[in-house]
Amino acid sequence: MSSDHPQTETRLYGVGVSPGIARGTILVVGEDHEEIAKYRITPAEIPGEIGRFESALIQTRAQILEMQQKIAEAIGAKDAGIFDAHLLVVEDRTLIDEVLRKLEADLCNVESVFQEVAAHYADTLSKIDDPYLRERALDIQDVTRRVVRNLQGKAPKAFLGTTTPHILVAHNITPSDTATMDREQVLGFATDLGSRTSHTAIMARSLNIPAIVGLHDATLKLETGQEVLLDGYNGLLILDPTPDTLWHYGELKDRKQRVAASLTELRETKSMTRDGRHVVLSANIELPSEVQAVIDNGAEGIGLYRTEFLYLNRVTLPSEDEQYETYRTVAEQVAPHPLIIRTFDLGGDKVAGGTDVFDEQNPFMGMRAIRFCLEHVDMFKDQLRAILRASSPSGNVKIMFPMISGAHELRRALSVLAECKAELRDKAVPFSDTCEIGAMIEIPSAAICSEVLAREVDFFSIGTNDLIQYAMAVDRVNERIAHLYEPTHPAVLRLLKMVADAAHKHEIWAGVCGEMAGDLVMVPLLLGLGMDELSVSASLVPRVKRAVQTLSYEECQHLVEEALQLETPGEILALCGEVAHRHYGDLIG
Ligand code: PEP
Ligand code: MG
Repeated sequence: MSSDHPQTETRLYGVGVSPGIARGTILVVGEDHEEIAKYRITPAEIPGEIGRFESALIQTRAQILEMQQKIAEAIGAKDAGIFDAHLLVVEDRTLIDEVLRKLEADLCNVESVFQEVAAHYADTLSKIDDPYLRERALDIQDVTRRVVRNLQGKAPKAFLGTTTPHILVAHNITPSDTATMDREQVLGFATDLGSRTSHTAIMARSLNIPAIVGLHDATLKLETGQEVLLDGYNGLLILDPTPDTLWHYGELKDRKQRVAASLTELRETKSMTRDGRHVVLSANIELPSEVQAVIDNGAEGIGLYRTEFLYLNRVTLPSEDEQYETYRTVAEQVAPHPLIIRTFDLGGDKVAGGTDVFDEQNPFMGMRAIRFCLEHVDMFKDQLRAILRASSPSGNVKIMFPMISGAHELRRALSVLAECKAELRDKAVPFSDTCEIGAMIEIPSAAICSEVLAREVDFFSIGTNDLIQYAMAVDRVNERIAHLYEPTHPAVLRLLKMVADAAHKHEIWAGVCGEMAGDLVMVPLLLGLGMDELSVSASLVPRVKRAVQTLSYEECQHLVEEALQLETPGEILALCGEVAHRHYGDLIG
């Protein structure tokens, strides 16, 4: 980020990840606040806070016991014994009573009170000249983090509960925070951390909240109450905008509205190229509430339903019946168009309150998605049975597995699915046996082995967000290396081609559901590679449809041939940009 001072305004430069312009006063949430927010409560709220505290302690105890059991099984009971000390912490009456006393005295939320008491307790122990007690201080710190995390899973963050419209400027915002934002109150947001393909950015686009990420240190430079203009198109946060700037943005807003109005008439038309190739244009959703936007924007169904958002912001996991109701409702709303339900992709930057997720050094390469599901088979089966049951009434449901790395893993997932089918059959519960099954191709190993995988499934959906991060070793949420994340890298182009060709050779269809599909400059490349489907954020559907209708498949195929001869991402990007600007420059500029 850099800043300059033309007259009276200050400009901070980040990455625009969700288009739109917002103007208002800011609420700054720094790094510390985010960890544990402190806010006032009324005496009437005390019993509720005690209830949250008690259930967080019970949940923490259960997690420690489970961890202890796993470790005992893996390396023996002796090593698991270290967790006995952790159990003592959650049962420590002195600590618990002190929290309850302070809760009444201070009238603050229980996580902040608990944090203060536990920190004081640990601090006192660590200063005593006794190695045993010093060890206990470390145990307390460890358990405190876990209890606080469990408490946070139960409570909306205070900064999300404010009741005056504002622009949120935060060090970091999680995808689940974004999912619970009140659109009326949060006019836009800007963060120090983050990048274009983080789930926070994806969620902001889905909810149409103008957003900027990657500002590095905006929370240190700005103060709550200052007036800003947020430009989500260009990634600009303008402090105290001058009248000239405001005039310029008024014009831009009008221009964007005129383009949007001209696109509404495309709603009922098909996404067909000039020379008659139909590319299915579907939408990605994270929450069931987005289905209306899918329909209003004229998408041909849902190409990616990120079901893990059902699991975020809650402590207990949704039951099979609850999931069934949700999936069935979404399927009915979107019928007769297809609904592709992606099974649970927790991990990475998405962590559920009710699951026991360990801190990992490389969460995106860790216990994520299908790996997590195959380790937690009961939970996986609950979801698969719920999806299968939901597939019966409207017959438009398809299932896909995220983060498949190869044939063995895919077969394991398919065999769990087969078990679920058998169980339903035994109980005479109806489901659609012809429901299509797909694999997400988002790990290079899967792309390279896509010929093998194509024999086992009905379709491929390419998750370019992950495929690019793994192919190029560029963490998709790390703003410091965001410039190295290059969708037009020749290696990425070859991986995409490999997957599309393998699919077609084995007569299955291939789509793209990563953010690349909604990038208007990339559309000619994806069409030319022969992709059969593009699944994009609902608000982007009209623009991508216009782009497809303006292009010819033949020209796009030539573009790919030419791109395959080029050696650098910049050259390929320039080539795509030239075609895109020539055909629909008004949509891009
Ligand atoms: C992807 O990786 O491209 C994808 C669509 O899945 P997600 O963004 O949820 O990881
Ligand atoms: Mg992915």
